[in-house]
Amino acid sequence: MPDTKAPKAALSEPQKALIKLGLVRDIDLALHLPLRYEDETRVVKLRDCREGDTAQFEGTVTACDVTYRPRRQLVVTVDDGSDTCVLRFFNFYPSQQKSLAVGTQVRVRGELKGGFLGWQMVHPTCKPAGGELPTALTPVYSTVASLPQTYLRKAVLGGLARADLSDTFPPGVTEALKPLVGAPREALTFLHQPGPEVPLASLEDRNHPAWQRLKAEELLAQQLSQLQSKREREVLRSPALAAKPGGLHEQLLGVLPFQLTAAQRRVGEEIAQDLGRNLPMHRLLQGDVGSGKTVVAALAAAIAIDAGWQGALMAPTEILAEQHFRKLIGWLEPLFAPKGLRVAWLTGSQKKKERTEMLALIASGEAALVVGTHAVIQDLVQFKNLGLAIIDEQHRFGVAQRLALRAKMKDTGQEPHLLMMSATPIPRTLAMSYYADLDVSTIDELPPGRTPVITKLIADSRRDEVTQRIRSQLAEGRQVYWVCPLIEESEALDLTNATATHEALSAALPGVMVGLLHSRMPVPEKKAVMSLFTGGQMGVLVSTTVIEVGVDVPNASLMVIEHAERFGLSQLHQLRGRVGRGAAASACILLFSTGESGRLGETARARLKAMAETADGFEIARRDLEIRGPGEFLGARQSGAPLLRFADLATDTELLAWARQLAPMMLDRYPELAEKHTARWLGGKSEFLKA
Ligand code: ADP
Ligand code: MG
Repeated sequence: MPDTKAPKAALSEPQKALIKLGLVRDIDLALHLPLRYEDETRVVKLRDCREGDTAQFEGTVTACDVTYRPRRQLVVTVDDGSDTCVLRFFNFYPSQQKSLAVGTQVRVRGELKGGFLGWQMVHPTCKPAGGELPTALTPVYSTVASLPQTYLRKAVLGGLARADLSDTFPPGVTEALKPLVGAPREALTFLHQPGPEVPLASLEDRNHPAWQRLKAEELLAQQLSQLQSKREREVLRSPALAAKPGGLHEQLLGVLPFQLTAAQRRVGEEIAQDLGRNLPMHRLLQGDVGSGKTVVAALAAAIAIDAGWQGALMAPTEILAEQHFRKLIGWLEPLFAPKGLRVAWLTGSQKKKERTEMLALIASGEAALVVGTHAVIQDLVQFKNLGLAIIDEQHRFGVAQRLALRAKMKDTGQEPHLLMMSATPIPRTLAMSYYADLDVSTIDELPPGRTPVITKLIADSRRDEVTQRIRSQLAEGRQVYWVCPLIEESEALDLTNATATHEALSAALPGVMVGLLHSRMPVPEKKAVMSLFTGGQMGVLVSTTVIEVGVDVPNASLMVIEHAERFGLSQLHQLRGRVGRGAAASACILLFSTGESGRLGETARARLKAMAETADGFEIARRDLEIRGPGEFLGARQSGAPLLRFADLATDTELLAWARQLAPMMLDRYPELAEKHTARWLGGKSEFLKA
């Protein structure tokens, strides 16, 4: 029922809740499928029930009392002639108490718990007995407190009735598949309003033809949208940037203090090929932490610059950006100087005067390379001729930010080439479906001379041993990271924890400089701490800011991660990658705490086990996907990529292959159907897939 009590408010609470849940268009409502179903079609006898059953029975109230022990509750006893059941309500209104007065005939529905005092139900639903029974199963939808089931159910059925659900599949395309329900309306009606004859099990079975139909619809929409954005990009043009013999690219190779690995050479070649074409590159460079992606990016930038274009490198944090900046300046400026070119630096915390200077350098083209944070994509930043945009740790950026960087040269009708870098490899199934439109280069070897990092799981109760280990590393002239977890609910608690650890370590390690880095620190202070650590004066760095640890200090040989059970798998892997960068034998200690329960949760255990068992970033990514599922893996909330709601990439491979094959034919021969189909399924979100 609409909430009529809310005075003057334009929207009622349930209406607002619908919008919040994204249930706006009729089709959104129609696609909001039930979480589960309840069988309210029958009234049973308590005598025939089993522990744990969700049961509906009718009987007479024989007692109704408020008791205060162990806490205030309404306790009602109902007798159905075959047995009795005690109902407990911990929150209740006087009206409820009245409606359950002794002698009333009620219909009760809830989960039965057996016990030594007989049947019980906690917070069952109660109605007057004898009402008409529904003839079909009742759908139960996921919802929020301000949106009652009955309201939502009505809204969904309304949406379903109004939505345009005409068949958008071209004729004959589903014949090769397992049976599907013939049209979307039929499939959805089946799932929202199962007829009285439909058994519960068939609704829950995602192999049912109705489910198959929805999965096929969804995967097709996704493939169409990817293909479309690929085709849209194919008409865009970028400058063809060819490496010149003896040019900047070769000179840079000459001044590097190391030889490229074979993998770096191979991916460098792949990138150079793309740059040489006048089609925009859209390439992901993936490589494990420490595999040397930065230098590959620098070499690509050298090609662009040599061809007379600008390059930009955007990193997610100021510290990371600055680290790139220093490295690139070190390598490039000696080569730039004779040509009068500069490397510009852009960040949010920069002084206005410096910023203005940098903006002028960028606009005039004197800055051949621009390095910075999100500041790079601000409107104020006008490039003269951006030819190559590089995004480091691309998964940390939102889609809108990637789009903004690509749109920097829009006025000229050109697109910069785009190189994205990530240490989190995309598993193959995801690459096929979400990133069908992306070329991938992989660095699959680490530079020589690295020693594998030994990973140890140690219970928090054995901290003293860890401190001992830190001492011995420091005695060898090495440095140590100590990472404290982010506690999402409370940044303050976070800080207290890190501060305490910092104090304890300072006390335990007299004469050693122990630094503290946390997210609330002003940037200059962060930088000061970092430079003491990079410079080697600081022995131990305690940090809460996981991201800021994306630094490169080859002398660091020990990484301690406190409350490792709270970190995600790829996060742990990234952190571990901060050590083992030099030749020294390195270790990573995962300190875990089991809390009050005395044991780790299942997923935490799986993560820590994976960390101890493998150092291979691809294997880690595969297990991460297994543990978390693709939605979280993609960081969907920030990426804006529409998640698959119905299909499961791991099991629906046949449907995925079908959709991939069908998409090009459908775009060519049935463009109106294709457009209708993606609009229906992706709505405004399809734009995001293009980033
Ligand atoms: P990531 O891929 O994690 O971004 P970086 O680019 O930061 O890795 O490289 C890690 C370290 O390895 C850096 O100190 C870099 O200079 C060094 N490095 C890169 N390539 C090589 C190589 N071929 N041989 C030796 N050291 C290398
Ligand atoms: Mg890097």
